[in-house]
Amino acid sequence: MMDGAHTQSGCRDAPLLKERGQREVFCGLTAIVWLHRKMQDAFFLVVGSRTCAHLLQSAAGVMIFAEPRFGTAILEETDLAGMADAQVELDREVEKLLSRRSDIRRLFLVGSCPSEVIKLDLAKAAERLSAKYNPHVNVVNFSGSGIETTFTEGEDACLAALVPELPETQDRQLIVAGALPDVVQDQMLGLLDDMGIGPVTVLPTMRADDPAAVGPNTVFALNQPFLNETHAALIRRGARHIAAPFPFGEEGTTAWLRAIANEFGVDQDTFDRVTAAPRDRARRAVAQAGATLHDKSVFLFPDSQLEIPLARFLTRECGMTATEIGQPYVHRDIVGPDMALIGDGPVFSEGQDVDKQLERARDARADLTVCGLGLANPLEAEGLTTKWAIELVFTPIHFYEQAGDLAGLFARPLRRRDLLKVDAP
Ligand code: SF4
Repeated sequence: MMDGAHTQSGCRDAPLLKERGQREVFCGLTAIVWLHRKMQDAFFLVVGSRTCAHLLQSAAGVMIFAEPRFGTAILEETDLAGMADAQVELDREVEKLLSRRSDIRRLFLVGSCPSEVIKLDLAKAAERLSAKYNPHVNVVNFSGSGIETTFTEGEDACLAALVPELPETQDRQLIVAGALPDVVQDQMLGLLDDMGIGPVTVLPTMRADDPAAVGPNTVFALNQPFLNETHAALIRRGARHIAAPFPFGEEGTTAWLRAIANEFGVDQDTFDRVTAAPRDRARRAVAQAGATLHDKSVFLFPDSQLEIPLARFLTRECGMTATEIGQPYVHRDIVGPDMALIGDGPVFSEGQDVDKQLERARDARADLTVCGLGLANPLEAEGLTTKWAIELVFTPIHFYEQAGDLAGLFARPLRRRDLLKVDAP
């Protein structure tokens, strides 16, 4: 690593071990599982294969009582062989869907590996269908394909596709991008409101008609570190990014709020009045739930794209030592503030060459290895203790009130391992 780069800015400028080999990650369609819950009048129509349909059904469970808000238009062999006009068939499927479901106000055409392989132009389809069904239904496309993407990028692609649709505004305002569970989003909005910060728009909006706009006087914050394309799309619309560590744990949440408060000129007394009590609760909760983590080592495989901010939380707030911090993509404008807080020592890696990385993980034999589902079982069989990265995306972990739960998620596998050790003959 380059000495000196660390003294001024922590690891912000640390060199990256870049790997571009075989990867073991879920595809972007997985994001539909949490996005469809946030966007209540949207429908996600995956244009894909039976494999895509199975992935969605097993990830989300089959909804029996509710009208589902996602589905798959299956590309049959004749489509894949170029023997049928897939655009015509897609129009027919959309017609059928929208004639049955007047509650749908926004339709996402979601690309997949098969639709990309046959080069089905979903942008063209979205334009044509939007013209046909506007103003009642807005049709937008994005890709959830597993070719060169990881599962959280599905959300990024979805939000980035929405940004060009936003009307222009000259108003001074804050956009916060990233889908959070409702209860966590309410906590976040409550903290911002108590400091007098506003107006605030959260992307994605719950409903297609909820007011949202963007322009040169918009500033934005991300609450998820995987929103690279959304970040670029907002900047293209003239908005300015408020860079900050991500709101994980007491320190991350305080730094994230502090950066926004500075932008809006909130004075220190107000900031302290609003944050003192939840900060204290978060600190105590992390100390209690994360006691097991102290002085333990952690190795993070690249999976959820949350790895760098989580490593910051684990090393600085839970007393862990990171040996390697892998992330599918490292965008320094976005995760740089978290990197700057991480002390010297860990290797930062971007992308994956899974066999090489497995060798490094075996050499490191960290107390805890954070990885995807596919790697967890083999590593457990080799005696390593693992944590599934995908669980971190499906569990509320942001902001003060979830800080203890976040530490607890990492502590649980270590406690389980200790119990097994005691019980072993
Ligand atoms: S988009 Fe690709 S990786 Fe995802 S389920 Fe479909 S075929 Fe598999």
